[in-house]
Amino acid sequence: MLSTMQDIPLTVTKILRHGMTIHGKSQVTTWTGESEPQRRTFAEVGGRATQLANALRDQLGVDADQRVATLMWNNSEHVEAYLAIPSMGAVLHTLNLRLPPEQLVWIVNHAADRVVIVNGSLIPLLAPLLPHLPTLEHIVVAGQGDRSPLAEAAAQVHEYEELIADRPTTFDWPELDERTAAALCYTSGTTGDPKGVVYSHRSIYLHSMQVNMTEAMGLTDRDTTLVVVPQFHVNAWGLPHATFMTGINMLMPDRFLQPAPLAEMIEKERPTHAAAVPTIWQGLLAEITAKPRDISSMKQVTIGGSACPPALMEAYDRLGVRLCHAWGMTETSPLGTMSHPPAGLTPEEEWPYRISQGRFPVGVEARLIGPAGDLLPWDGTSAGELEVRGPWIAGAYYGGAGGEDFKPEDKFSEDGWLKTGDVGVIAPGGYLTLTDRAKDVIKSGGEWISSVELENALMAHPEVAEAAVVAVPDEKWGERPLATVVLKEGATAGYAELKEFLAESVPKWQLPERWAVIAAVPKTSVGKFDKKVIRRQYADGALDVSEA
Ligand code: ADP
Repeated sequence: MLSTMQDIPLTVTKILRHGMTIHGKSQVTTWTGESEPQRRTFAEVGGRATQLANALRDQLGVDADQRVATLMWNNSEHVEAYLAIPSMGAVLHTLNLRLPPEQLVWIVNHAADRVVIVNGSLIPLLAPLLPHLPTLEHIVVAGQGDRSPLAEAAAQVHEYEELIADRPTTFDWPELDERTAAALCYTSGTTGDPKGVVYSHRSIYLHSMQVNMTEAMGLTDRDTTLVVVPQFHVNAWGLPHATFMTGINMLMPDRFLQPAPLAEMIEKERPTHAAAVPTIWQGLLAEITAKPRDISSMKQVTIGGSACPPALMEAYDRLGVRLCHAWGMTETSPLGTMSHPPAGLTPEEEWPYRISQGRFPVGVEARLIGPAGDLLPWDGTSAGELEVRGPWIAGAYYGGAGGEDFKPEDKFSEDGWLKTGDVGVIAPGGYLTLTDRAKDVIKSGGEWISSVELENALMAHPEVAEAAVVAVPDEKWGERPLATVVLKEGATAGYAELKEFLAESVPKWQLPERWAVIAAVPKTSVGKFDKKVIRRQYADGALDVSEA
């Protein structure tokens, strides 16, 4: 029997219309670095998005599923692009401004972007790449910045504000199939070529609803979320679309992502929520420790993208700010888990749940696959590779991406599950604890050592600012851990003391015998520890390694 229910497509257009009318008074506030931030209501942002769609169609001829790229910070204009481009049936392609130039070129060409909207401050990044971007016909510049490097550009250059000015605030939005492409985002390509994930209208709609569930971020129009996670990093974790669904006010940091301006905007604008990767929260903590600020408005903070060190969570607990751990990836839109503990527990009992990556929502099915390809139980101890599936999980990559060495069977199982490359355990209640990425796990004499566990234990030492542990070749054991540590200013701890400290929480056979102090942990374009750089430095003899 078929249902008798209406079959209305789930589209970004619906989110746009809803947000600009029902939540027309909610605000997008963009930090300007000047005395007053820029403030626009959802009604204004929606109106400007509609004008942008008109401009893209009428003046730039954007049609069908053509790709419109953005090279932008988090700001109001970027939100307008998020709403306009998918709603008109085109495909929003967010470019990661921290990628190496050759990867950006590769991605723009692979996606065949026709238009790019760029922030004025990012022109110096874009201009040198232009001779290598033959598909690009139009460059739209938004915000302040010297335009002169674009003087020689083959593509036509437009001013964002001039382009949208005086355009109609209505658009004949197409009736879209909810399964068509809405947005395109490439993985940061830590291994192999970048791979394009194409989100559908349906996946964005359902994912936005999940973001808004109380068991996820659960915010309302009484909240303001500080969206630090870049809009080029998995759609800012879905927030720009989720906020338009429920009227959550947005505070956008634009290019002011350093700890001092972040502390200032929190103190002045008093957001109730924020989303960012651990390195941002580490930086902010150091800042407000040195120069105390009131950040108590933030009741809840979503932290993910890489493991949240428990010591960081404790430090924020002491400031009355609750960090809620989340796991996800480009391929999962990204919300995969969030670590809300089950009901009825004391704070002590809640702790192990809080520091886990969290539990799966209804839209994310999970399974663990053991080293021999066997299905592992959810017993909290059996470690295997995590596989997931669901309506906002990728089932393929765009147009044969991934390079010549890429084999789809490495990322997708025969029966259609995404192989995450993350290794972990799942407790009986469905709480996931990641122990490592498959490629970072240290395989020592047939046993696995979790690099993340060692790092977390090391970062709990009061004199350690950051620590990254990688596998290095070892004649006897195959691989052994190398601990690289960044010490805080004035630290006196030596390797022996650090090792003793580790021994309090880590089995003896896992203790690293190779140690090196480094100035900073190398980071990827989205702020994660870049362990392949450390492995290379070690192989090249570029680290000052001591035995302890
Ligand atoms: P890339 O895979 O190129 O680094 P993503 O941003 O998609 O780009 O990263 C996804 C990966 O980040 C996950 O597969 C996982 O390894 C890691 N990750 C994300 N969130 C967490 C978390 N809370 N704890 C540990 N690792 C995480």
